[in-house]
Amino acid sequence: MTVHLVLDEDVSLEHLQSLKENIHSSLEKYKFEHTTVELEFANEQCRDEVN
Ligand SMILES: [Zn+2]
Repeated sequence: MTVHLVLDEDVSLEHLQSLKENIHSSLEKYKFEHTTVELEFANEQCRDEVN
């Protein structure tokens, strides 16, 4: 599964990292085979929407 998080404000890299870790650990209990967490900025084109 893939999670897309769109950030609408400036977040420090450090904050991003802990955010990502939080997400991963909260998803762990669901035992997904593969988990992708995508962090996108509001002004960034989602790569899943490019085509
Ligand atoms: Zn996306």
